[in-house]
Amino acid sequence: MVPKFSPTLLGSSRFKMDQKTTGTLLELAAKSLLSNELAAIHALDELPRALFVPLFIPAFVGRHKEILKAMVRVWPFCCLHIGTLSVQGSDYDILEAMIDGLQLLSAQNSSSWGPKLRLLDLRHDPKCSIICSEMKTTFSSCSWSCAYSQNSTLRTEEAQHSVRCRGFDNSESEPHSALETVELLVDLSLDGTLRTQQFLSFLQSKVRQSSGSLHLCCRDLVIDNISAHRSMLQFLDPRCIDHLQVNQAYLRKVNHLVAQTAHLYSLRHPNIIFTYFVGRHFQTFLNGLGKLNSLQELELSALFLGDRLQRLLRCAGLRNLGSLVLPPQLKTLNLPFCSLSSIDVTILSQSSQATHLRQLNLSHNQIFSEAYEPFQTLLERASGTLQHLEINNCLLSDSTLSALLPALSHCSCLRVLSFAFNPITMPVLTRLLRHLTSLRELKHVIYPIPVHCYRQWDVRDSLDRRQLAEVQAQLKAMLQAVERDDMLWTTHSA
Ligand SMILES: [Zn+2]
Ligand SMILES: [Zn+2]
Repeated sequence: MVPKFSPTLLGSSRFKMDQKTTGTLLELAAKSLLSNELAAIHALDELPRALFVPLFIPAFVGRHKEILKAMVRVWPFCCLHIGTLSVQGSDYDILEAMIDGLQLLSAQNSSSWGPKLRLLDLRHDPKCSIICSEMKTTFSSCSWSCAYSQNSTLRTEEAQHSVRCRGFDNSESEPHSALETVELLVDLSLDGTLRTQQFLSFLQSKVRQSSGSLHLCCRDLVIDNISAHRSMLQFLDPRCIDHLQVNQAYLRKVNHLVAQTAHLYSLRHPNIIFTYFVGRHFQTFLNGLGKLNSLQELELSALFLGDRLQRLLRCAGLRNLGSLVLPPQLKTLNLPFCSLSSIDVTILSQSSQATHLRQLNLSHNQIFSEAYEPFQTLLERASGTLQHLEINNCLLSDSTLSALLPALSHCSCLRVLSFAFNPITMPVLTRLLRHLTSLRELKHVIYPIPVHCYRQWDVRDSLDRRQLAEVQAQLKAMLQAVERDDMLWTTHSA
C-alpha cells in the first residue's frame, strides 16, 4: 500500500507541538515518504516549502537517487547546498542524479512556471546550511554565488543591465537571462581514476548541452597530472578557483595556470618536478605570485630555494626591491624539502609576513646546522599568531632545542607542534614537556623518538620498541600529573 502523505496536518499551526514532537513527526513523515520512491516523487508537487529541507537530508543520507533528482527539479528556493552532508568517492551517483535534476535552458519545456533553483552547491562545506537563511522567503542571489566568472549569474545580470542602459537590444550578442543561468559549484580532484573520469565527462556533457546556461564553478581544484587534464581545464573558468593544488608538475605548467587565476587564496605545489632553481620559470612564478593579492596560503616543496627565500618574500626583481611578492598578511607558509639555509630563516624572521603566520612548515631543511638565533627571532615575532609549527628533520639538537624553549613557551596560540626525526635525548624531551604544558591551546605534539631508543640513530630496524614503550608511558604519566590529559603526544609513526 502506498503511504499517504498529508501536508495539511504537518503544515498546520493549529497543533501546539514542542520542537521535539515536531521533529519526530517530520522524521516519521520523511521516513514514510522515502519508503516508497514513486509516492515520494508524486508528493513533491504538494509538499509545502518548509518540508523540502527536512525531506532532503534523509533522502541524501539514504542515497535515494531518484527522489533527490526530482527534488532538485522542483526545489522552491534559489540555492541548495549539501553543506555538512558527507560525500565519499562512491557518491558520484548521487551527485550526478542531482545535477540531472537541474532545469537547464535546453531541457526546459514550455510550461509557464520557472524553476527557482539558481545555484546547486555540491561542495562539502561545514559553514553552509542546506539553504541560505535570508533566501527562505525572497528570491535573490545566494551569498555563495560566483563573483568572478563572466558566465556567473551576477556577471550575467551586470551584462544585461549594461545592455539595457545602452538602450538597444541585440539578441545575438545578449547573454542568457540571469534567470536562466544556473551555477553548479563543485570541488574537483583530477586524480585520474576511472570513476572520476566518468564524472568529469558527465560534467562536460552537461555544460555542452546547456548552451551556456550552466556555469560550472570550481573553487577548490586538485590536479594530479596537469597534462592529462587539458580538456577538463578548458571547461573550467580559472577565475573561479580560490584553492589550487597542483601535484608533481613542472613549474612552467603551474605558471601558465596561475596566470589565468585572479583570486587565489591558497596555492599548493608539492613535489615540483625539476627541483633545481630554474631562473626564467622561477622569475615568472614570482611575477605571478606578486599579482595574487588575496593569497593567504602557500606551499612549495622540493623546490631548491637555498639562500634565495628573499626573492620569494620581498622583491620581484632587483630593480624592484620595494614590492612584496607575498602579501604581508600571509597565514600559511609551507616550504618542506626546499634546501633552506640559516640565511633564509634570517630573511623570514625579518619579513613583514613573520608576525602574521599561523602555520609554518620548514621540515626537511637543515636550518639548524649553523645558528639557531634566526629561528629564535622568527618564533618570537610569530608568537602572537602561530598555531601550527612543523620542524621535522631539521638537525635540531638538544642544545638548540633548550635554547629555543623560552621563545617556544611564548607561542600562546600554538595548537600543533611537530618536530619528529631530530636527534633529541630523553632529559631534554621531558624538560620540553614541562615547559609546553603551560600552553593551554597546545593539544598535539609529534615528538622525535629519543636517541637512546635506537641502537643506531634513526635507523628504523635498530629501534628498541620496549624502550620506546617506556618513553611513551613516562610522558603519559607526566601529562596526567599536571592534568593535561587533553594533550596528545605521539611519535610520527604512531
Ligand atoms: Zn545559498
Ligand atoms: Zn564561478
